[in-house]
Order: sequence, then structure tokens, then C-alpha cells
Amino acid sequence: MGAFWMPFTNNRDFKASPRLLVSAAGVHYRDIDGNQVLDGTAGLWCVPCGHAQPRIVAAVREMVGTLDFAPTFQMGHPTAFELAEKLMAYTNHKFGHVFYTNSGSEAVDTALKMALAYHKARGEPARTRLIGRERGYHGVGFGGISVGGIAGNRKQYGTLLPGVDHLPHTHNLEKNAFTRGEPEYGAHLADELERIVALHDASTIAAVIVEPVAGSTGVLIPPKGYLKRLRELCTKHGILLIFDEVITGFGRMTTPFAADYFDVEPDMMTTAKGLTNGTVPMGAVFTKGFVHDAFMDAPAGIELFHGYTYSGHPLACAASLATLEVFEEQKILDHAAGLQEYWADAVYSLKGLPNVIDLRCIGLIAGIELAPIPGKPGMRAYTAFKKAFADGVLIRVTGDIIALSPPLVFEKAHIDELFGKLAKILKDLD
Ligand code: PLP
Repeated sequence: MGAFWMPFTNNRDFKASPRLLVSAAGVHYRDIDGNQVLDGTAGLWCVPCGHAQPRIVAAVREMVGTLDFAPTFQMGHPTAFELAEKLMAYTNHKFGHVFYTNSGSEAVDTALKMALAYHKARGEPARTRLIGRERGYHGVGFGGISVGGIAGNRKQYGTLLPGVDHLPHTHNLEKNAFTRGEPEYGAHLADELERIVALHDASTIAAVIVEPVAGSTGVLIPPKGYLKRLRELCTKHGILLIFDEVITGFGRMTTPFAADYFDVEPDMMTTAKGLTNGTVPMGAVFTKGFVHDAFMDAPAGIELFHGYTYSGHPLACAASLATLEVFEEQKILDHAAGLQEYWADAVYSLKGLPNVIDLRCIGLIAGIELAPIPGKPGMRAYTAFKKAFADGVLIRVTGDIIALSPPLVFEKAHIDELFGKLAKILKDLD
């Protein structure tokens, strides 16, 4: 067991008592001892259509025997082009172009590079400053950790990207605890962008990147009007607005993207996870036509000197096409929308349980914030996670926050089981 240096894991603790998953189907995993585990987190937020979805499995099988790999540098394969058209249709043609990567982290780094190159291409090369937000998570590339705002992701390495500022986060328990949906307080925090503009001048700022709903930091829902205000300010100052939709894209909010849910249009979106139903690694950057077109006026040659060996990998493209078909044929978004109220009622049924200091909920996402054990931050939620797994439900914890994001094909009975077990665990937790 020692050889595998596991990511984002307490390796010593895990290897002393491992949790091993050996198969998955629908909304369940099976562990190595044969126990069924209800998946309350869609893997890592990435399996909206349920595990081992037959159509997606068949599409990947078919592709691997037909075209195992094809380069997309000065070459191509039809499925990559077909998928790009279908993805644009999935955005309701609000976006014009898509650039393929292999992960959310790569999508973020790609979008940041595009933003810098975009301003250069249109004759404003001084626009190099990037603005992220405190508590933001944008993956683990050096670009992503630079604009991200989670100390744990930065303290071991520092950041390499100079010229980054951060907006304040919007979490405020005093004002907003136990709000259902978007909190009332905090839209004015978007105006902090004006302060940053006043400090550096708009002519030096390339882009603002935010998660519409911050996930990895523990489910922070934007205050009412916050994202609209950010959009207005970016437009006013010629700054590109990037939504990192790696967790919110592909139905998590019951709409195709969070941008649709909040009715705010960014200039670029970064995506991954649900894009292929988690079956094959893939990320993608969606851009508005004008961003792409700025590059096309350059003298003949490679317009964007960037890409990955596996950009548009045939297996990933096949998985993604099949995922879009499943979304449409099985009306996954309608199903998720139909569950939304039931989900929220279940979340708020935990109010009053010991140590629960906040409940947050939007779409099919929930955040349950626990009071930390003094001197042992994160320990209370980590214990809940281990107890839940032993009891047959998979939850995810970050610090002392439990983050839930089930497959969108959950049924009410699954919600009852998840919250029934969780309530019992929270009642008995030290
Ligand atoms: N951006 C956001 C908002 C994420 O939640 C994540 C992963 O959870 C990423 C980027 C990074 O994605 P990946 O782990 O695929 O690199």
C-alpha cells in the first residue's frame, strides 16, 4: 500500500485503516468487503448521471477499440468536432468555442493564459493582473493556486504568478447562517473590485475568476445580486469575467450551468467533472465568440500556443457525447429540479442538531457547517466522514464542513437514507 502517495489524503491514517471501493453502479459504490455505500457526493462532484451509466460505458468501449488515440495538434478526429458543436448547443449557444483540457486545474490555467493573451492580441498588453477571491478553489496548477484563496493549497509552495489580487469571500455566519438558497447579505462585497481597480487601474487588469458557488471551501452560496454586480463592474472596466464551473456545470444547480441559474453571463467558463460523467478525465474552457475571434486576426500561424497531448482525447470525447445524450434523453435536469425542494427540506431538517452552526443549500448541493473541536480543527467533520462510511454512506468533508452533492439521478428514498444516517451520526458525535 505504501507505494501509492495518495492525493489530498492523510496517507498514514488511511493506510492504517483503508477504505477501498471496488465497483460502482447507479448511486452506489461497493467496498472491498462487499458493503454497499450510498454515494452522497457523486464521486468527487463528478458523476451526475450515476455510475456505470450503460450508454456512456458502451460509447467508451466502442471508441477504445476504434480510435484509441488521435492527436489534435494540426490534426483532428471527427468526434472532437462533433462534441464541440453539441457543447455549444448545450450552452444554448451563449458560448461560441470550446478548448479541451484533461482536468479542471488545466482548464483554469488555460483560461488564465487565454485572458492574458486575449488582451495582448487586442493591443492592451498591460492588462496582466488577475483577480481571484479568498477561499476560492481553482485546482492545483500554479495558476489555480495563485488566484485561489485556500491557505492549505498555497502555504507549502507559495505561488509563482505575480500580479494577483483577491476579492473578499462572502461567508458571513453572523448575517446569513441557516439561509435557504442565496443569502440576503453581502452583494456589496462585489464592489471591492472597484477598490482594486482604483489601486491598480483597470488598464492593468486582465480577468476576474470566481466559482459561482464555491464548492471545495465548503459550499459558499453567492449573496443575492453579487454575481450580477461583479458582471456589471467587469463590463464597465473591460475586465474578462471567468466563472469556474468545474463543480457547478452539468446540472449541479438543476440548470446546465450556474451561469444559467443566476442569469449572469461570464465571458469564459471552466468546466470538467460532469463533462464526461467522471468516466474519462476531461476539462474544457468555454469562450464567447469575441474572445476567440480576437486571436483570429493575428498573422497566419498558430493563434494560441497552448495545448495538451490529450486535449480532445477520443475516449473523453465519446464519454462526453454520451453524457450529453443521457442528459437529454433521461431529462436529468428536470429530475434534479423536481428533487430540489425535497433535498432542501432534508438539509434543513438537521437544524438544531448538536454542533450544527450553519446549513447551506442550493440546487443539489448542501453544506453542513459544524463547530470545530477547540484545538482540533477539522477533526469533528473527519470523524463524521469515517462514521458515515462505516455506516454505508459516502460524504465529503472540508475542514469542519460536510459538503454533499449526490448524483442527479438520486431518488427521494436515497435522500431519506442519506440524511437519516447523517442525523444519527451528528446526534452521537463528540
Ligand atoms: N475548479 C473548481 C471550482 C473545482 O472544484 C475543482 C476541483 O474540485 C477544480 C477547479 C480542479 O479540478 P481538477 O481536480 O479536475 O483538476
